Amino acid sequence: MALVSMNDFLPKAKAGKYAVGQFNMNNLEFAQAIVEAAIELNSPFIYGVSEGALKYMGIEFTVAIAEAAAKKSGLPIALHLDHGSSFEVAMKCIRAGFSSVMFDGSHYSFEENIRLTKEVVKAARAMGVSVEGELGTIGGVEDDISVDEEHANLAKPEEAIRFYEETGVDCLAIAVGTAHGMYAGEPNIHFDIIEAVSKAIPVPVVLHGGSGVPDEMIRKSIAAGVGKINVNTENQVACTESIRAALNKDAKIYDPRKYLTPARSAMIEVVKSKIQLFGSSNQA
Ligand SMILES: [Zn+2]
Repeated sequence: MALVSMNDFLPKAKAGKYAVGQFNMNNLEFAQAIVEAAIELNSPFIYGVSEGALKYMGIEFTVAIAEAAAKKSGLPIALHLDHGSSFEVAMKCIRAGFSSVMFDGSHYSFEENIRLTKEVVKAARAMGVSVEGELGTIGGVEDDISVDEEHANLAKPEEAIRFYEETGVDCLAIAVGTAHGMYAGEPNIHFDIIEAVSKAIPVPVVLHGGSGVPDEMIRKSIAAGVGKINVNTENQVACTESIRAALNKDAKIYDPRKYLTPARSAMIEVVKSKIQLFGSSNQA
């Protein structure tokens, strides 16, 4: 199967009240772990690729790995640019074979964000590529982008609804209190914002910073209208902790396969638990 746009599965997710996971790809082992978990549970999923990860892996390898996963699994998989910062980078990804892009114009003014997102939607739609927009600023650290708490602005429902109506995005990330990276305590998720926006627009709301959010909060978010949830940090932690344990156990290890194999297995378990929590098992 070829890579698909998020429109292949997100409308079904919203109607069926479950969420599809975006699991970020940082290298080959991440990609393998994510698709293995999805094969076991027969779930659609999204490979998220940040601009930093794109630089690290190279765009050709990124697309080739995702295409291989789609071909091997037969599952509906979208290859999605995460937090694209410009029209140019979105187009570069689409030309290289991405089936979906996020344009993150949240650091622009509201009107400028609408104007720029509209341009991306117009070009992407012509190529059958789905688009995620962002409104409000999501706090935390992702790649080299750091947003501190006081600059993390919650989305205003009436603005989010107007943003959807003017841009026609296929899903909408809104800042509702989650953050990228690790949480010091529990996040304070504003379910009322999710519900107000989701009720008024036909496309799902996206929850960024899904790592470390308690299961009950995830379930409540989905019930309120979240249809796509992003997870990266939990896989990074599982991967690195597993490698650290393997190296601490045996200082003489030099074959990377000896520590990458358990790291990959640890990530498979993380992704399986998220797919089950999100409710997307057997929805492929
Ligand atoms: Zn994000």
